[in-house]
Amino acid sequence: MDQVHLLEVCMDRLKQWWRPGLLCIGDAAHAMSPIGGVGVNLAIQDAVAAANILAGPLCEGHLTDADLGAVQARRSFPTKATQKVQLMMRRKRQNTGAGTDPARPPAFLRMVARSQLMPHLVGRLIGIGVRPKHINPGGTLAGAGEP
Ligand SMILES: Cc1cc2nc3c(=O)[nH]c(=O)nc-3n(C[C@H](O)[C@H](O)[C@H](O)COP(=O)(O)OP(=O)(O)OC[C@H]3O[C@@H](n4cnc5c(N)ncnc54)[C@H](O)[C@@H]3O)c2cc1C
Repeated sequence: MDQVHLLEVCMDRLKQWWRPGLLCIGDAAHAMSPIGGVGVNLAIQDAVAAANILAGPLCEGHLTDADLGAVQARRSFPTKATQKVQLMMRRKRQNTGAGTDPARPPAFLRMVARSQLMPHLVGRLIGIGVRPKHINPGGTLAGAGEP
């Protein structure tokens, strides 16, 4: 049991993900709650966006603060949107007080389940993310940026 640890659950975001010579991505920039199992997706998508945006400037030796800021600008909205959904799901759970059936899913998920379209959309959001990223094969070439 010595090897068993409790993991702290928290959700937060840095105001600025970078400083000159440093870029935070994944949980270092925005700690994700386990809800929905999407934190790893976001971290990988941050890494892909960072590779696409920074590979060219790094290869050419002229990386600027603006390049680092561009990674945050690109990934900020998906992070905020995903954390918002996690918060909605968490709030509903916390509202489940004494006297209610604790086995019931949160109201947000019950609403999703009642809809024809929403299960597909939420499944897509969880599986693929708000702003899916793909490695840009031209990312190391001059002028190549985010697709
Ligand atoms: C209890 C819990 C359950 C979760 N369940 C899920 C889930 O099912 N699915 C999901 O997608 N997300 C889940 N998440 C969220 C997910 O774990 C994170 O969003 C994701 O791991 C972030 O990835 P990351 O690479 O940014 O950071 P991390 O996975 O935290 O990786 C950072 C790494 O850096 C290492 N490190 C730290 N300091 C140093 C140092 N000084 N030198 C060298 N290495 C260092 C750490 O050991 C670690 O290996 C869960 C989170 C919690 C707390």
